Amino acid sequence: MMKAIRRHLGWKIFLSYLIVLLVGFIVLATATEFTAPTAFDHHLAAMNDMMMGDTSMMGAETDLELDLFTNFRNALNEALGFALAAAFTAAVVVSLIVSRQVVAPIRQMMFASQRIADDHYDERVDVPGDIAGDGVDELAQLALSFNQMAAKLEYTEDMRRQLIGDVAHELRTPLTTIKGSMEGLMDGVLTADVQTFQQIHRQTDRLQRLIDDLQELSRVEAGAYEMNLLLQGVQDLVEITHTTLVRQFEEKGVELNIDLGEDLPMVYADEDRIGQVLLNLLGNALQYTAAGGVVTIRARQVGDEVHISVEDTGVGIQAEHIDQIFTRFYRVDRSRSRSGGGSGIGLTIAKHLVEAHGGRIWAESPGAAQGSTFTFALPVAG
Ligand code: ADP
Repeated sequence: MMKAIRRHLGWKIFLSYLIVLLVGFIVLATATEFTAPTAFDHHLAAMNDMMMGDTSMMGAETDLELDLFTNFRNALNEALGFALAAAFTAAVVVSLIVSRQVVAPIRQMMFASQRIADDHYDERVDVPGDIAGDGVDELAQLALSFNQMAAKLEYTEDMRRQLIGDVAHELRTPLTTIKGSMEGLMDGVLTADVQTFQQIHRQTDRLQRLIDDLQELSRVEAGAYEMNLLLQGVQDLVEITHTTLVRQFEEKGVELNIDLGEDLPMVYADEDRIGQVLLNLLGNALQYTAAGGVVTIRARQVGDEVHISVEDTGVGIQAEHIDQIFTRFYRVDRSRSRSGGGSGIGLTIAKHLVEAHGGRIWAESPGAAQGSTFTFALPVAG
């Protein structure tokens, strides 16, 4: 019995009602036991005084008094008995209803969490009450939070699965090419010349870059890097990246311009991290802009933010892809990016780094072949 009470909330609720009921009953019974005889005697004495004139009643008075008192007490006890039975029934019914309302959702959550632990991430619980109105109590809140947690777990699990699939897919292509070349060399189908070795070298290079990107992505996603936030001038941040890439732009024949606004405020930034973001954006702009195109780095103060953007006149991005390009491994044109060596990780890393600065990043493009602009906003150092 004790074990059942300890293990079931329904029993505990019922027991708490029973205790309240018993205490009420004891108090009531004790009170009537002490007060009823005195009150009764008091009223009887008053009645006696009224009937004083009638002498024929004098002998039977004490017997009548005793009989009346016994009957009164019996009637009182009977009423208390009925009251106790009615209260007990009410306690059973109410505790059943309450425990149905409280225990049932909790039990549902318990079973749902067990199913989630068994990898069934699509499990959700019913939210008790009226969510639209103001009928959301703590239990409904708990159910809502539970469902949110389950949805988040499901999303993370999906991402994990997708990541493994994507990584396997990304590794397969260069490996297949390397293996094919090696087999061709062994069978004598391919000649052991510089071109063949260059082809193999290009693929190993791609593998190396992919692994470096993955390592960087996992570090950034886990937040496993130190941020060295210092007061920086936007101009300095832009200059460093410009110097690093200017040669590559010249080689490809793409014009690189800088257009910085007047009196740009200082920002708190990690020079290396923001440099990495700018390198990724400028690297992409160079990659997706053909010779003769123009790339411009702009910076402006907008409210309490500094907007730094990289604008190109390249291939552009269609509207349906814009929101997804910051998702890891997402590439608009898989075949083209693959030949260019892109793995679709650069923008994901950039997004993480900008957000680590309390900023945000977004892309805009009027459409395919109409160029694109990538902008990130950093809060002004205040
Ligand atoms: P990748 O290494 O493939 O460039 P990113 O994460 O840097 O990976 O970019 C994701 C995708 O976004 C690219 O594959 C490309 O389709 C698109 N993209 C990025 N920058 C540009 C740009 N400047 N112009 C057009 N498309 C771009």
